[in-house]
Amino acid sequence: MSNPQILLKARPKDRPGPEHFERVETAMPVPGRGEVLLRHRFLSLDPYMRGRMDDTASYAAPVPLGGVMEGECVAEVLESHHDGFAPGDWVRGARGWQGFSAAHGSSLVKLPKDGGGVPHSAYLGVLGMPGTTAWVGVTEIGRPKPGDVFVVSAASGAVGGVAGQIAKKYGCRVIGIAGGAEKCRYVKEELGFDDCLDHRGDLARALDAACPEGIDVYFENVGGAVQEAVLPRMRAFGRIAFCGTVATYNTRPLPPGPNLSVLVRRKLMLQGFIVSDHPNAWPVWRERGAAWLRDGALKFREHVVDGLDQAPEAFIGLLEGRNFGKLIIRL
Ligand code: NDP
Repeated sequence: MSNPQILLKARPKDRPGPEHFERVETAMPVPGRGEVLLRHRFLSLDPYMRGRMDDTASYAAPVPLGGVMEGECVAEVLESHHDGFAPGDWVRGARGWQGFSAAHGSSLVKLPKDGGGVPHSAYLGVLGMPGTTAWVGVTEIGRPKPGDVFVVSAASGAVGGVAGQIAKKYGCRVIGIAGGAEKCRYVKEELGFDDCLDHRGDLARALDAACPEGIDVYFENVGGAVQEAVLPRMRAFGRIAFCGTVATYNTRPLPPGPNLSVLVRRKLMLQGFIVSDHPNAWPVWRERGAAWLRDGALKFREHVVDGLDQAPEAFIGLLEGRNFGKLIIRL
């Protein structure tokens, strides 16, 4: 048996293509002391991986050329040299775009063997990093109050879909922004947002119609033209949870930005955040989110693609909005 891996072959100048990835077969990893041998069952594909392909200063180191692409996995334990794990256990860990790995037990989070009422893949999405990101951004930075107008971009996605549902539970009027009629219908009818606007149309006009009184909280996932339409419509003392700007991740050089003087004029609080700086939020969200999922009070959608070999093409599509829901590779 061998270990299939997807490596970073070259650094993209702007849009990544298949030529920036290389698929190889390597020897099966051998677990050492304190380690477990993992068979990866699901791989999470997330927008942040585009940043890891660049060799620029960031909050995390880049993937080295020839290195295995980084990513979170849900995996099954095949063999254990760690007291805390036994064969047949399910775990989550940052194990990369590959079929198998040997990991130290201390780097893994144990998951319920039967999934605990949700599919195991949900620990990469709604109950994993993206769901926790939504929880931190809404509760710690957006600080919504009943009656607030809460706008969230990439609203059908892994982070945005959860962020809007949490804001609804805080009594906000929640307006999503998404690309295309089908995503907008899903956000409104299935996730229960009050409205969802298509950013492919005249977004400025649609925002004026949907929130004539302005916006109190903006959960920013997209940047670019969507941000330009939202910022001037913020109300005084609004809050912006500045989570990401996926629309700009393939753009080099960066285009001139919107006029940020609105931050001053409206006395807005804008705070960028990285979910990994909030370790205490993870168990809180996992418990709260799981309870809402059990009650049917929280919905999620996965976009599952089969096979590690499909990961590069699926990731390229993520940066262009071709995914509909949390993008997961099933191995
Ligand atoms: P999604 O599952 O939402 O996928 C990305 C979505 O972004 C696409 O489906 C598409 O939706 C939208 N998009 C892509 N390109 C454009 C574009 N040019 N213009 C407008 N929309 C576009 O991703 P996630 O939910 O995982 O991530 C959302 C954001 O959150 C990203 O910016 C990501 O980097 C950030 N993030 C930040 C974290 C943190 O700790 N700060 C942690 C996790 C994520 P549509 O078709 O609807 O436009």
